[in-house]
Amino acid sequence: VLRLDGIRKSFGSTQVLKGISFEVRRHEVVALLGPSGSGKSTLMKCVNLLERVDDGQIWLGDTDITDPRADQDKLRARIGVVFQQFNLFPHMSVIKNVTLAARKVHHWDKDRAEARALELLDRIGMRAKAGAYPDQLSGGQQQRVAIARALMTDPELLLLDEITSALDPMLVGEVLTMVAELKSQGTTILMATHEMSFAHDAADRVVLLRGGVIAENGTPREVMDESQDPQTKEFFSHFR
Ligand code: ATP
Ligand code: MG
Repeated sequence: VLRLDGIRKSFGSTQVLKGISFEVRRHEVVALLGPSGSGKSTLMKCVNLLERVDDGQIWLGDTDITDPRADQDKLRARIGVVFQQFNLFPHMSVIKNVTLAARKVHHWDKDRAEARALELLDRIGMRAKAGAYPDQLSGGQQQRVAIARALMTDPELLLLDEITSALDPMLVGEVLTMVAELKSQGTTILMATHEMSFAHDAADRVVLLRGGVIAENGTPREVMDESQDPQTKEFFSHFR
């Protein structure tokens, strides 16, 4: 579904990504791990077209999304995105939040957008909250709504960037449970996370970024339990 090939990205004189190549295959959940500042969010933003790459290609299916001629709105419909926080517009109801991009960016009519939104809210047990405002929901519920919104256009790939790190620890579980459900339904997911036990149990593969390059790429077991690399062992030792 997604293939990154030699991605480089600098901010000024700081090289953040120094040639990143890996794949996310269909139905796979890939956890992107690495110390703070290792470039996880930068990489996600390149995939989401919020940042331009300096070099390299990113393929979504057969489309090179780094090609400036690519249709950005069309590509965005093929990739769902959820960030750490500030995902919902506070002055809009849940249903408005969920339908907004589908209507304004993808030009769906109101009936189609609302029907799809209610179906998704139903699936996450949030249909009764369709008329509520974000500040009437818990942080966990807000993130679940944000995930529902990201699924509106039935994207080929879901990008989740630290979606639980701004949450009260009590609320992390319900959001991670939703991610596990999506996985079981076959959703293809690339997620940056510091939730190591979730990555260990739910990811098909983990990719570890360090110093702008990929330090490890393998099954959770290979990377998190069995790697003999001293720096890798040191990194994971902080989470035990
Ligand atoms: P965290 O785990 O804390 O979320 P991260 O792995 O997501 O970290 P990034 O946010 O991708 O890391 O940042 C990587 C590096 O790029 C950092 O040194 C950061 O300061 C720098 N950086 C990110 N965005 C910009 C920007 N717009 N302008 C300048 N530097 C930036
Ligand atoms: Mg980040």
